[in-house]
Amino acid sequence: MNIAVVANTAKKSVDVAKELKEKLVAAGFILETEKPDVVITIGGDGTLLNAFHTYVDRIDLVRFIGVHTGHLGFYTDWRDYELDLLVKSLKEEVSKGVYYPLLDVKLTYSDTEETKHFLALNEATVKNLDKTMVAEVYIKDELFETFRGDGLSVSTPTGSTAYSKSIGGAVIHPRVNAIQLNEVASINNRVYRSLGSPMIIAKDEWIRLELKKGDNYQLHVDHFVIPQENLSSMTLKISDKRIQFASYRHTHFWRRVNDAFIGES
Ligand code: NAD
Repeated sequence: MNIAVVANTAKKSVDVAKELKEKLVAAGFILETEKPDVVITIGGDGTLLNAFHTYVDRIDLVRFIGVHTGHLGFYTDWRDYELDLLVKSLKEEVSKGVYYPLLDVKLTYSDTEETKHFLALNEATVKNLDKTMVAEVYIKDELFETFRGDGLSVSTPTGSTAYSKSIGGAVIHPRVNAIQLNEVASINNRVYRSLGSPMIIAKDEWIRLELKKGDNYQLHVDHFVIPQENLSSMTLKISDKRIQFASYRHTHFWRRVNDAFIGES
C-alpha cells in the first residue's frame, strides 16, 4: 500500500507527520506522494480539503484518513496520539471505509462553447461583489424563482456544517444523499421575492443558475476563490464520484456536531 502523509505548516502537525512516516515505513508501507492509495492528512478540516483538491483527479483510486492536531474535525477522525493504533488499523484493514457525496459544478460562459467542471467537498458559492446578484434558479430545468441578493451557495451533506451553516443552512447527516441550496442575503420585499429558506435537493435532481450576463462573479469552491468573467450559468448536482475515507472511526455524527458547536455533552 502506497501512502502519502500531508501536513499543514503548524509545528505540531509537522512533528506528528514525521513520527507517522517513521511508523509507516517500519510497518512496511511505502511513502509515495505522486500516486498514493491512501492519503493521511495531519492538521484540521482545511488540511483535508487541500489534500482532496490535490488528489481530486485520482478520487476513484484514493482513500483518505484525517488526523487532527487541534479540535476534533468533521473530516478528521483520528487523534495525534493514536498513531500506533492507526498504523495497526491500516495494516489489518480492520475498520471499514465510508463514502461521502461530492458536488459536481459545471460552468458555462457567454463568450465560449467551452465549459468548466469542478468537484467540491464542502460547497460552491457564487457571488456578485459589485452589485446585486440576479439569478434565475431552475430545479430540474424548471424555473423556480428569480433570486436577488449577494449570492447563492450549494453544499454537500458534509459541507453542511461549514459555510452553509453560517448562512442559515440545516445540518445534514452525511448519509443523506442530497445537496442543499442556500441564499446569501436575499432581497425580499414587495417587489422581489425568493423562497428565503434552505432547499434540500434530491439525488436525481439538479440546480441550474442562469446568471445575468455581463456581470463579474466570484466563485468559491471550498477554499478556492476563482474570479469569473462572462459566466452565464452554473449546473450543480451530486457527483457520480464520491470521496472514500479509510479506517473510518465511527464517531457518532450528532455527538461530533455537539462537540463542534455546543460542547456541553
Ligand atoms: P478555513 O480553512 O480557515 O476554514 C474555516 C473554518 O471552517 C475552520 O474552522 C474549519 O475547520 C471549518 N470547516 C471546514 N470544513 C468544514 C466542515 N465540513 N464542517 C465544519 N467545519 C468546517 O477557511 P478556508 O480555507 O477559507 O475555506 C475552507 C472552508 O471553510 C470552506 O469550504 C467553507 O465552508 C468554510 N468557511 C466558512 C466560513 C463561514 O462559516 N463564514 C467562511 C470561510 C470559509
